Amino acid sequence: MISCLQEDKVRLQEELNTTESKQQGLGSTLQSQGTTDLEKHLEILVLENDRLKQELNGSQLRFQQLRGSLPACTNCEHSKESSRLREQMAVMQLELEEKTRLLSELEQHLKDVLQDRAEREERLNKRIRDCHFALAKQSTPSVKCITKKMEVESSRMKQDLEDAQTRNRYFQEHVDIQRQLLTEQEQQLQDSWRTSAQLQAQIMRYEAELEQARGEMLSALQAVEDEKNQAIEEVFQHARSEMKTVHDNLNGVRMNLLSIQPALKMLTSDYNCLKNHVRDFPCLLQDAIGQTKKEIYQAVEEAKEINQDLLRKYKREMQLRKKCHNELVRLRGNIRVLCRVRPLTREDGAGPDNRNIISFDPDDDAVLYVSHRGKTTLFELDKVFQPYALQTDIFREVQALITSCIDGYNVCIFAYGQTGSGKTYTMEGLPEDPGINQRALRHLFGEVAERSADWDLTITVSMAEIYNETLRNLLAKDPSEKLEIKLSPDGSGQLYVPGLIQIRVQSVDDINKVFELGRMNRATDFTNVNERSSRSHALLIVSVTGRNLTSGVRTVGKLNLVDLAGSERVGKSGAEGPRLREAQNINKSLLALGDVICALRSKQPYIPFRNSKLTYLLQDSLSGDSKTLMMVQVSPLEKNVNETICSLKFAQRVRSVELGAPGRRAESQNYSSRQECELESPLSAVQQGRHNYPAGSTVGKSTSGKRRLVTSSEVNH
Ligand code: ADP
Ligand code: MG
Repeated sequence: MISCLQEDKVRLQEELNTTESKQQGLGSTLQSQGTTDLEKHLEILVLENDRLKQELNGSQLRFQQLRGSLPACTNCEHSKESSRLREQMAVMQLELEEKTRLLSELEQHLKDVLQDRAEREERLNKRIRDCHFALAKQSTPSVKCITKKMEVESSRMKQDLEDAQTRNRYFQEHVDIQRQLLTEQEQQLQDSWRTSAQLQAQIMRYEAELEQARGEMLSALQAVEDEKNQAIEEVFQHARSEMKTVHDNLNGVRMNLLSIQPALKMLTSDYNCLKNHVRDFPCLLQDAIGQTKKEIYQAVEEAKEINQDLLRKYKREMQLRKKCHNELVRLRGNIRVLCRVRPLTREDGAGPDNRNIISFDPDDDAVLYVSHRGKTTLFELDKVFQPYALQTDIFREVQALITSCIDGYNVCIFAYGQTGSGKTYTMEGLPEDPGINQRALRHLFGEVAERSADWDLTITVSMAEIYNETLRNLLAKDPSEKLEIKLSPDGSGQLYVPGLIQIRVQSVDDINKVFELGRMNRATDFTNVNERSSRSHALLIVSVTGRNLTSGVRTVGKLNLVDLAGSERVGKSGAEGPRLREAQNINKSLLALGDVICALRSKQPYIPFRNSKLTYLLQDSLSGDSKTLMMVQVSPLEKNVNETICSLKFAQRVRSVELGAPGRRAESQNYSSRQECELESPLSAVQQGRHNYPAGSTVGKSTSGKRRLVTSSEVNH
């Protein structure tokens, strides 16, 4: 029995040991599983999740950058980048799927482990219950029965029993401890379940985040794709429209080409034709040049002949013109006598002596009437200028004469008249309204310019004064120096004045400078310039030398513009001394002028040029085919009537004189004009001590009403 009990005890002991060891194994398994595999897996999963999150964030960031740069650029580089990103995302997706799969596998494994543990626990609990049941069964009725038997049978057995009970208690305690351990393990298991649930929740959260990130990424990708597609569409549209334009252009060009083709064909044929021409051109050119040369030579020869013929004709025409001119001069008379009546001036004042005594014929500008003491005397001249005549009117009349000076004629223009009759006004004029002198030079400048194509013309001027029969150079540095008139040593019979300065003038400025110099020199040594000027002859001598550029013909013309001294008879005032000498010299020279003109008119063989410095100096310009114009100035005042009549008579007589042929240059020193000429000088009246009007004509009305000239005997003095 005892052995049986012992055997049971041993078996129970073994079972307990086995259970214990199993429990220990299971506890250690659970311990190791809870602290190693599961935690490790969990850590790996967490790390993996973190990494995935980071990658996802990086991808999102790059995607944002890509999105930011996409609108600015839609070219192929970006589409490549986009596709590259998409590939990366696909890889990541795969990785994510792999991780998810691993996670689910791990989860499954964890579930299996937990189930396995639960099963084992169940089995263990069942075994523990069985053990407890077996122990309870062994300890309660059977042990009491054995104890009663043993108390009876053996104290040693009692002792054994006590030992077995002790051991039983010990086992009981051990089972309690095991139970406590199991409770702790259950607690630990609960904890690990909780942790596992937390981990699962975390995994699910991560999965949700992953899903969301994936959704965002996909939508971003879609947006990128859309934008890309839109950009591609736009580019495509643009390219299509450009393509269309290019196509249209191409069609236009094609049409043009089609239309040009015939023209091109024509051009090609023309070109070929031209090429042939060009090939033949040098020969043709040589021929043409030869031919043209011949023609040119021929034309030059012809032109030369024509030119010579023309030159011949020109020379003949020039001669003819000169002949005609001479004839005209002869017909008109070489001396033209004009009269200018000055207007009444403020200085004349009013009074019975200052009445106007001159009247005119409105139908005849060649006559004027002088009314005096109830009689009216008519004077006939070439032309009469009334007081209102302007300087331009006077110049128009003398202009032709001045022009003929360029043609090589010598011309003299005299201003004759008593002092105050307007001689200087007519010759010099005022600065703002110049007279003949300045206008003549201006006119010559104009003519020179006009003829410059055919003629090389030079104009020079001299200014001289004859005072008391002394010739002075007004342009010299020393105007008081006397000048002499000499016969040219070349035997030509021409006169010249050594030392007489000639200044070349080319402009109005030059003239003004020369005139100013002359005026200044004239004023020297004399306090009253006007007085001096009325007692001397002022000469402006203009020389025009020309050379015809075609024929080489040379011409010399001289224009003498003379403002004569006053013609009044000083005898009236009974002057003496130097004043008388002045008057005598003036009268002498004016008489000599009259004598010369008279001698010329009457074709005398000897002309008394030498009787005065004036006539001697002007010898060349008074003889031959020279032209003379006498401007007789008269005052319209009653108080000047005698001088007016004297001047008009002088004028009327010289008007009828003709200049002779050039041969008549000889002169007679002893020639007396007073004896042979009717012209009576004022001086002769002074010398003879009588007051006579020179022989002249006065006018009376005939019964027929016509003008008639009456002899001096008819004039009632
Ligand atoms: P002459 O030189 O004969 O002595 P002037 O030429 O000095 O005379 O003239 C005398 C005055 O008469 C001057 O004051 C001048 O201005 C004036 N005079 C002469 N003729 C005219 C005229 N045609 N128109 C206006 N004033 C004149
Ligand atoms: Mg004067």
